[in-house]
Amino acid sequence: MADKKFEKQIPNNVVSLESSRCTGEGCKKKAEKAGFCAEHFDWFKAGLITKDGMKAPDFDKKHYHYTAKKAS
Ligand SMILES: [Zn+2]
Repeated sequence: MADKKFEKQIPNNVVSLESSRCTGEGCKKKAEKAGFCAEHFDWFKAGLITKDGMKAPDFDKKHYHYTAKKAS
């Protein structure tokens, strides 16, 4: 019965349901940090993708270095 009231109490600063999924292109994982899953958040930190989940212009180059770094 109190369901409707509860819905209205959701504060504005809470990210919408849509963004609870990773922003990464084609990624269906749950967002954990800053709208990304753990893996894509790493990508974002490394500059591979923008905050919108778009690939950086030099994604291929960056990804190469990213994976090389990870493997070492
Ligand atoms: Zn992801």
